[in-house]
Formats: sequence, structure tokens, C-alpha cells
Amino acid sequence: MTSAEEDFYRIFLRLDEGVLLLRANGEIDLANEAFMRWFGLTNEVVRQPFGSVLGEAAINELAAAVWREETPAPREILVQQEGVKRWLIVRASRLGAGEGARAVLLFQDVTAQRTLEEVGIDFVANVSHELRTPVSILTGYIENLADFPKMPRSEQVEIFGIMQEHALRLKALLNDLLTLACFESRSDVLDLAELDLRQFLRQLAKDWQPSLASKEMAFVLEIDDGVSTIRVDRFRFEQVMHNLFDNAFKYTPLEGQIRVRVAGFADHVEISVEDNGAGIPEADLPHIFERFYRVDKARSRRYGGTGLGLSIVKHIVTLHGGTVRAESTLQMSTRIIISLPRA
Ligand code: ADP
Repeated sequence: MTSAEEDFYRIFLRLDEGVLLLRANGEIDLANEAFMRWFGLTNEVVRQPFGSVLGEAAINELAAAVWREETPAPREILVQQEGVKRWLIVRASRLGAGEGARAVLLFQDVTAQRTLEEVGIDFVANVSHELRTPVSILTGYIENLADFPKMPRSEQVEIFGIMQEHALRLKALLNDLLTLACFESRSDVLDLAELDLRQFLRQLAKDWQPSLASKEMAFVLEIDDGVSTIRVDRFRFEQVMHNLFDNAFKYTPLEGQIRVRVAGFADHVEISVEDNGAGIPEADLPHIFERFYRVDKARSRRYGGTGLGLSIVKHIVTLHGGTVRAESTLQMSTRIIISLPRA
């Protein structure tokens, strides 16, 4: 190989797209790294009959069409390696003629797009479902009130109470959806500034004091000496702490306790909110940061939850370059830990 050919070969090997060249007799002529990786191949495959290396019927059909002088339409296939799903668009064409003719197959990874589409479809379905419930309850009661103008006042008051509850639910949902939409359109830029953490958390506790008192709950604040300020978007950080506090408060019974701890590390700060309430089953833990995921739908609704609180927390923390995780023991405690970079 000349040095120019070597350069081309190196580029070919490292292309983002998978590339496979087949001979007319079905043998593999060349395969690049992306192709090998996506199909879980580790051994040398050159000169091996394609069919015995890879039993993909769709690819076989594409290659066969190329030799029949056709330009086959691209196909989408799903491959799975060690539990990881990958959607690939495969395009086939013919290169050269006679002895040296090759079928060229190009594999384009469209997993990210497909995943996004799936999330989008799920999201619209979830939103419609969540909005439909309060709206149909409200319209039902409005009709009821219109049909029975002579309804006793006590019954009316009861109905107004229920209507108000569902109107508030709609409001909470719309607020959370707007917050999420802001992040997703990327129009929401963080306004970073140094924040005095001690002062901020003391204020948070003060704001929550009336609610805590109503459930005779205790609040404990522990801050490492080494931590004084943190660089965050104050408004967004407030939202994070409010959502975590709100959950700890909602899912903890009377006389429970909420403990906020701040621990400093060389390059990051960990802030955790812990309660000694209902806890979260182990199987649910990996999902609680997903949109609309609720361990107990009825319970969440009862407390005015939207199922969006923790996904908003995750969005904001991620935007700050941080991470969030959860630890819990059922009927014992739940601890949500956010980790934010110091710089
Ligand atoms: P919600 O509005 O329903 O509270 P979140 O996104 O804030 O939604 O939380 C998702 C789910 O995680 C909740 O419905 C609840 O089941 C569970 N969860 C969150 N925080 C706690 C907690 N501190 N204790 C027990 N369960 C919790």
C-alpha cells in the first residue's frame, strides 16, 4: 500500500458509519471497526463467507438485490449486543464490475433518533392522559351544577372543593410541563452566581416551617465546614431543593424528620435530602427520575404530585454539570443526593 492508500484505509476503518464490502461469491472483502463492533464480531472476518458470519436475512436480501443489478431501497434493522439495542439503516450499492465488483453496504446508526421519537410519543400520550383526568372531572361537575340549579348549598360547597383541587392539579401540571419545555427547547440559559449555601438552606427551612409544624415534623441541617458557597442558578437551584423537600414532606408521615446534609469534596459538593417516610421499593428506584413515573399513582395524586418533580430535578442538576441519585429502604427512609461540581 502507498502511504496515501494507508491513510485512506485508516480513515475507512474509523468511519462513524459501519461499512462492509462483499465479493460476488458472498465472501467478506473488508469490514470496518463500527461494523465489527455493532455486530459483536471480534475475530478476523475477511474471506469468511458472509452468511456464516452474520445470519441477518435483511442484509442477505440487500446484497442479493445488488448482484441482480437492482438499487434496493434502504432497510432498517434492529441489532442487539449484550442487551444494547441499536437501530441501523442499511444502504446497499454496487461498486465496480467484473471480477473486482463489490457489494458495498453502509450502516448508519439511528438509535438516538429512534429513542427520541419513542420518548416523544410516550410523552404526548402521558401528557394527554394526565390532562384528561382533571379536565373530564371538571366538565362533569360543571354539567352537574348547571343541571341542578337548586342543589343545596352544602353539596355545592363540596363540589367546588373538588373542582378547586382538580383545577390546582391542572395548574401544577401546566407549570411543570412549561418548566420541562423550557429545558428541552434549550432556550433556558443558566444564570450562574455564587450562592451562600448555609444562608440559602436556613431560608428554605424557614419557608417550610409552617408546613413542617402542621405535621409535627422535625428538620435537621448539617453542613460541612469546608463548604460555604456554591456556583448555581439560584432560581433553578431553589426549584430543585423545593421539589426534593416537597417529596420528603409529602411521603413522610406525621412526626417524621427531614434531614438536609451538605458534604464537601475536592471537586464537588453533595447535597442530600433524607426523610424517614414511606421509602421506595428497590425495583422502582431506577425509574423515579423518569417523567410521569410514580410508585403509587393514587398516593402521588392525593398529595398533588404530577410525577414530573424528580425529572425536573434531574434536568436542572444535569444542566449544572452534576448528577443525582437515590437511596431508599422501604418503610424506613429515602435519600436523594445531588452532586454539583465546585467549579
Ligand atoms: P410526584 O409529583 O409524584 O411526587 P416525582 O417525580 O417528584 O413525582 O417523584 C416520582 C415518584 O417517586 C413519586 O411519585 C413517589 O412515588 C416517589 N418518591 C419521590 N420522592 C420520594 C420520597 N421522598 N419518599 C417516597 N417516595 C418518593
